[in-house]
Formats: sequence, structure tokens, C-alpha cells
Amino acid sequence: MSHSSRLESGFTGHPKASNNSRSSGIVKISDYFGCNVFGPETMKLLLPKEIYRKLQDSIQNGKKVDIDVANAVALAMKKWAVSKGATHYCHWFQPMTGVTAEKHDSFIDPVGNGKVLESLLGKQLVQQEPDASSFPSGGLRRTFEARGYTAWDPTSPAFLMDVPGGATLCIPTIFVSYRGESLDTKTPLLRSLDALNRTAMGVLKYFDPSAGKVYSTLGAEQEYFLIDQSYYENRFDLLLTGRTLFGAPSPKGQQLEDQYFGSIRERVFEFMTDAESELYKLGVPLKTRHNEVAPNQFECAPVFEETNVAVDHNQMVMDVLKRVAARHGLACLLYEKPFAGVNGSGKHCNWSLATDSGKNILSPGDTPHENLQFLTFLVSIIKAIKEHSALLRASIASSGNDHRLGANEAPPAIMSVFLGEQLTSVLEDLEKGVTSKGTDAEWMNFGIDHIPAVLRDNTDRNRTSPFAFTGNKFEFRAVGSAFNNAVPLTVLNSIVASQLVETKKEIEAQLKLKKPLKAAVIEVIRKTYKESKSVCFEGNNYSPEWAKEAQKRGLPNITSTPHALEAWRSKKSVEMFGSLKVLSESEVESRYHVLQDKYWKEIDIEAKVVIEMVQTQFIPAAVEYQTQLADSVLKLGKLEDGKIKVSFQKELLKKVSRLIEESQEGIEFLKTRMEKAASLSDAHTLAFFYCDEIKPLFSPIRKTVDELEGLVPDHLWPVPKYREMLFIL
Ligand code: ADP
Ligand code: MG
Repeated sequence: MSHSSRLESGFTGHPKASNNSRSSGIVKISDYFGCNVFGPETMKLLLPKEIYRKLQDSIQNGKKVDIDVANAVALAMKKWAVSKGATHYCHWFQPMTGVTAEKHDSFIDPVGNGKVLESLLGKQLVQQEPDASSFPSGGLRRTFEARGYTAWDPTSPAFLMDVPGGATLCIPTIFVSYRGESLDTKTPLLRSLDALNRTAMGVLKYFDPSAGKVYSTLGAEQEYFLIDQSYYENRFDLLLTGRTLFGAPSPKGQQLEDQYFGSIRERVFEFMTDAESELYKLGVPLKTRHNEVAPNQFECAPVFEETNVAVDHNQMVMDVLKRVAARHGLACLLYEKPFAGVNGSGKHCNWSLATDSGKNILSPGDTPHENLQFLTFLVSIIKAIKEHSALLRASIASSGNDHRLGANEAPPAIMSVFLGEQLTSVLEDLEKGVTSKGTDAEWMNFGIDHIPAVLRDNTDRNRTSPFAFTGNKFEFRAVGSAFNNAVPLTVLNSIVASQLVETKKEIEAQLKLKKPLKAAVIEVIRKTYKESKSVCFEGNNYSPEWAKEAQKRGLPNITSTPHALEAWRSKKSVEMFGSLKVLSESEVESRYHVLQDKYWKEIDIEAKVVIEMVQTQFIPAAVEYQTQLADSVLKLGKLEDGKIKVSFQKELLKKVSRLIEESQEGIEFLKTRMEKAASLSDAHTLAFFYCDEIKPLFSPIRKTVDELEGLVPDHLWPVPKYREMLFIL
């Protein structure tokens, strides 16, 4: 591609004009927040009182919705949606691909005489049978029973996806097989929330008998990159794999750290406000926005919500960011590591537990009694991470996240817990049975009553920890930016639920010894902490010393996805999921297979893109330059006086020729390995083969091509460069 065609194809060096769809005039967010959500307020207004009450009862207590209730809700939903311009409805679900899926049906119902009416029946609201046999099921659906069903999840409100082309009523659903096995990420999440409620209530009854329910809360910070759409379209590695497989570093990257929290450029700002207003309409309580560390990297975060709703909302955030970006001539990159050499993107999942009266269980209280409760839950969580750290690692495994974890910008693949100095010393003192002053003391004096005071000014934030306590919640920082949070959250909820069963047993055992409650609980806290504290780490998680230390402590450090995924189907995980009724053994197996499959297929696509880009873009560009150099050497050599030196051109010609040869050789070898891969059949073997035999071949090829990028004239280089993608917007 010549320089001029590079311009024709869109890289003008100037961003496309943005089109800000915001109407002028001042509009308060509170005036339109949630206007596209069929939430409790709207329902209260539009549903008969009795129906509303019955529906709320089903939602709160997990009861089945009667068909008469479903009919009435469907009618009200349809009226509401049609009045807002919707023509279609869809069951919105989250198959194991990790993204959301939707199949649209129009509301029309023929009523004779060539006329139609809009209608939505209760049974259409409650259940659908999409022809969705192409979604991965990991073997759960054999073709003879290929049907999958979507079923209404009334705990997540229906909403209107209102895009320039028209509006669609989206009904959040779960996706299950004919035999009731989960084919999605949502069903296990709901089951894990149920398990967490049951088991946490079992422990909470010793402290707060008035609580009626425990649920987990989630606030997901979302990182992403924005680049000009024309660059995106001209890099088919980005387009097809989500990341740049080639690209020499820009002279300026993130070394000056002048992007972080910097002032937001206008074009980006227009995009952000546009995306935000779409999300506000959808009831997503976005709270913060800022520039992130890498150039053209940004972040947004909502106020936390109940996990189920927060998971749906994060799926909407990702969807809206991408769609609205396109409107502004931008591409929003959610991939974990789109650019080498600058930071990748993650999702910080802030997570806690709350009671139905809104009390945060991970917030230290004002009384020793409240703090005993706090510490009991805290040590249970630490123990859960210790026991299931390999599974927690598996829950965030993907080919994209492999590039990010442990790359000095994100936590390593070692799952550890950060507590902060103050809390650590409280637990250490408790364990040893001494106060900070080093003297034996009564239970009362273990500093438990002082926790709130010390935590409130606890500012020692450890940004390198994968799982950090931040005062009244944990921040799970190892989740990848493109993830569906349902998966890591299902695992987190489940392992904690499983540990709470043990904690309850331990308390019961202590009480049987006729100990008073307080002494019994302190004994359990002490024991649990002692058994799990090897997973606690306060230092720099990015340092090589930690990897060594972790190995000594026996903590797993699993750096690649296929190896990490094994933890899904370990005996321990299968038993844990089974006993809590979150996932059956066959459901666990199916997830394992879907994830292994996804992994190798992603690397397979990358390999094919590497081959094609080198063959059709980079080598031809380099050959063009090679020819120019050869011409120059020949012509200069022919000059009669022989006084003009051609040694420099010759050297350059040699260098370019060598690099062309090397990249060609790299590709040829990769092709032979791909042939071998094509002869393999099962997902497990393929995943390991692609991880160990194919993926390592990319980086030497890249190195050669990136070197060529530094030699070939700028106008001959066929794809946008890092300095363009990361700095022109
Ligand atoms: P940071 O310093 O990490 O940016 P913030 O206080 O801004 O910390 O919180 C980040 C995220 O944590 C926000 O989404 C916020 O709503 C969420 N958060 C705060 N409290 C809780 C909680 N109890 N449970 C879950 N998430 C929470
Ligand atoms: Mg944070």
C-alpha cells in the first residue's frame, strides 16, 4: 500500500469529525435516569397492586411467577415499550461465549383482514426456545436434544435498547438445556448468590439475627482504549483478534505518565458524555470517568449494586461503549492487551456482602460485637481464597488476560490477599493471643473495639495485589477487561459460601464445648486465620521475590490459560460446586471444554492473521524497499567516476534482505506447526498444543517485522503505527 492509498483508506492523520448526538440545552441526569428501564417504580405505576405485590414477593423470595402474574406483567411491559417506540422484544441472555446474545421478535400478531396488533403474552415473557444450537454447550446439548430454552429472570429488570435504528424491549433471561442444565453464565451466578445467602445467613445468625437476607455487591471499574476507527479498520489484527500482533513501540509511550488523570480531550469527552447518557437511560449508575495510565486508555466506574444487576449492567457498559464509539468514528478496544509495551486493560471488581437492611458486612462496626462479625466473615474470605486460589485463577483465565497478568502492570497469576498493616496486626495479635503491647489480655482487649478508628484512616493502598481489602470491600483486580463478570463472581461467591459452611461448623463445635459465644468466635477467627494466612501478602506483588516466596508458601502460580483451566474440573472444585448446587459435574466439565476450545481457537485465529499479514502486507512492503535499495546500489555503482559510496545502501540492503528472509522462515515454520495442529482433535490437546507450540512462535516473527518497521520508509508501511494509533485522536 502506497502512502497515498494509506491516506485514501482513511488515515488522514486527522480524526474523523465526531457527531455529537447530545441535544443542546441543559438536562439533569436525575430527570431521565432509568427512563428506559422497566424497573420497580414503573412497575408500581403500571401494574395492578396485587400483581405488583406478587411479583415483588417472587423476586425477593425466589418464588416461581404464576402465569396470571406473568400475563399481567407482559401486558404492562409491552404497553410501556410500545409507547416508547419499541417494535420488537428479545430474550437477552449470556451464553458461555462471554458476550450477550439476543434474538429479536416483533410484537405483531395478525388479527385478520390483513391487520396486526402489538402483543406480548405471559408465556412469551416467561420462556422462549431460540434456535440457538450454535452456542457452545461443551457437550451438554447433544444434537438430538439440541433445544435450549431462555427463561425470564425477574430479578434483573427489563430494559429498552434504544438505538438510532429503532427500539427493542430486552428481557433478561437465563439459558438452559432441555434437561435444565445451565448453558450460560447467568444461571450459575444466580445459584451462587443463592448459596451465598443460605450459608452467610447460617453464620450471621450468631451476630445479627434480625437480618433476612445476605447478598453480594459489585462495583466494576472498566478500562478500555479508544482509537480512531480508520486505524482500527486498517489493522486487521486488531479487527479480528482484538490485539496488535505487530507494531514497533512508539518513541513516546507511557513513560512520562502524562496521560493518567490528565484533562480529557474534547473528542473523547463528547464520546464519554454520549455513552454515559445512553447508560443513564438504562439505569446504569456510572459515577466516575478518567484517563488511565496508557496513552488513549480510559476508565469508567459505576456505583456498586447487587451483583446480579451489576453484572448485567457491566455487559451493557461494554456494549454501549463499543456502539457509541462507532458513532463518534472511534473504536473502543476492550481486549486485555491490545498494545505491547504499554499497560493493558482490566476490570476491578469491587465486591462485598450486604444484608437486606443495607448493612455492609465487610465494614468494620462501632462495637466489638459488630467487629467480631466483621472479622469472622473476613477470615472466612481469606480462607476461601487460600483453599481455592487455583480455581479463582481459573475464573479469570483467557488468552487475552495471559498477556496482562504478571506483566508489571497487573497482578501476577498468584492469587494472594492484601489486608493492610492495621488489619494484619489486629489478626496477628488475635492469633498470638497478645495485644499490640505484647501483653496477654482478656478477649475484650484485643483491639477489636478499635478497628473502625484505625481502618478509617487506613490509606495504605496496595495497587499490586490481585485481591485487596480496601477498607470496607475487597477489590478483585485480576479480572480481564473483556470478561463477563458473572464467571469470576460465581467462583468468588461460591468459594466464600463453601467456606462459610465450614465456619459455621467450627463455631458450632466450639459452642458444644460450652464456651460463651464470644470466646467461641474468637477461637474460630484465630484458627481460620492461622490456617490461611499464608495467602496474605502485603508487599509488592510485581517483584520477582514474591514469586519465589509464593512458591515457598506453596501458592500456585499458573501463568497460562490451559494450565489454569484445569482447576475447574479438579476434584475439590467439582465437590465444592456440587455441594452448593451451583454447578453439577457435567456443567463444570462443559465449562472447562468451552473455555479450552475458546482458548485454542483464539490463538488459531492469531496464527492465521500473523501469516497473512506477513505474507500480504509486511513482506511486500519490505520487498518494495528492497527493490528500491537494489536499484539505487546498481545505479550508483554505474556512475563513471565511482566516487559516490554505496556501502551504506548495500548494508541496508543486506539488513532488509536478511529480515525478509527471517520473517519468511518464521512463517514457514509456523505453517508446519499449524499443519500439525490441524491433525489434532480434542480441545484439551489442542489448547496445550497452541499454548506451548504455536503461541511462542509469534514473538520472534514479530520482532523481525518490528525491526523492518524501523527501516522501511514510513510511507511504504502498510498499516497504522503505534504512534498514530496511540496518539492521534
Ligand atoms: P477506588 O479508589 O478504587 O477508585 P472507589 O471508592 O472509587 O475506590 O470505589 C471503586 C468502586 O467500588 C466503585 O464502583 C464503588 O461503587 C465500589 N464500591 C464501594 N463500596 C462497595 C461495596 N460495599 N461493595 C461493592 N463495591 C463497592
Ligand atoms: Mg479501584
